[in-house]
Amino acid sequence: MAAPKDYYKILEVDDKADAAAIKKSYHRLARQYHPDVSGKAGEDKFKDINEAYEVLSDAKKRAEYDRLRRGYAEHQSRRQGPGFERVSYDWSPEDFGGFGTIFEDLFSGNRDFGRPEPRTVPEDTVRITLEQVAQGTTVNLTVNDVRECVVCHGRDSSCPRCGGLGQVAEPRRFDVTVPPGVEDGAVLKVGEYARLRVEVAPHPRFQRQGDNLVGRLMVAVPVAAAGGEVAIQPLLGESVTVKIPKHTNHGKVLRLKGMGLPHRGAKVKGDMMLEVELRFPEPFSSEDDTLYSQLKNHHEEAGGEIHAPR
Ligand SMILES: [Zn+2]
Repeated sequence: MAAPKDYYKILEVDDKADAAAIKKSYHRLARQYHPDVSGKAGEDKFKDINEAYEVLSDAKKRAEYDRLRRGYAEHQSRRQGPGFERVSYDWSPEDFGGFGTIFEDLFSGNRDFGRPEPRTVPEDTVRITLEQVAQGTTVNLTVNDVRECVVCHGRDSSCPRCGGLGQVAEPRRFDVTVPPGVEDGAVLKVGEYARLRVEVAPHPRFQRQGDNLVGRLMVAVPVAAAGGEVAIQPLLGESVTVKIPKHTNHGKVLRLKGMGLPHRGAKVKGDMMLEVELRFPEPFSSEDDTLYSQLKNHHEEAGGEIHAPR
């Protein structure tokens, strides 16, 4: 297990040397270390020289070797940090016939050189209530986090950890904070690359309009006419008393300041907008009939205008 052999060093040339300089240096060294001259002691050196020359004299092999050498250097500098397993790999080819295969194996799929391939972004959707929008909530999310195999770094087809895929999917649990005031359809970032899409379920009583909560408020006709109070159930918490001004007509919108939703990331809150709908208290008693008749006789106005539908 070693770094790539430094063929330039072996041939005593620098890595910018042209073909002629490489050839010249090779001839000189081959003569010097030829087994006939240097005997058994020079045998390994002679093998190295020939190996180096075979690669560096072939433009295509040399280009691939340069790439590999650069990749290895970058890789080494990236892997210095704590927590990373120092990686090395078997460099020396058994014979030169296997060279191409080794290069292909090392470079296919961008294995350890450069950044990992972009991964599909796992996205999940969560549906929350309007009450949860008002308060914020936490969603537990498990993401299958695909990471490079730390055992083989994608180099061992018989790796027991990744089965040779070079990547391992590990379920990772996240507690995702959904902020108060989150918008319907908002996408929250989870961990390094996962996403959580937030959908807000429809509410039976309120409709959301930005930070405002909109609803229809039923008010009894006598209360609307004479003025009074009604108890309303807000989105959260105990019921609240709302003043109905006298002469409140059907369709009037009452604005309750600050009773809407929080604005995401801010301290301000929207309002509650209630459109008044007048209702006759039922059932009608005979006394009611008498009173309404008296009221009718007080007024000449009976209505009769036609308006377009809302
Ligand atoms: Zn592995």
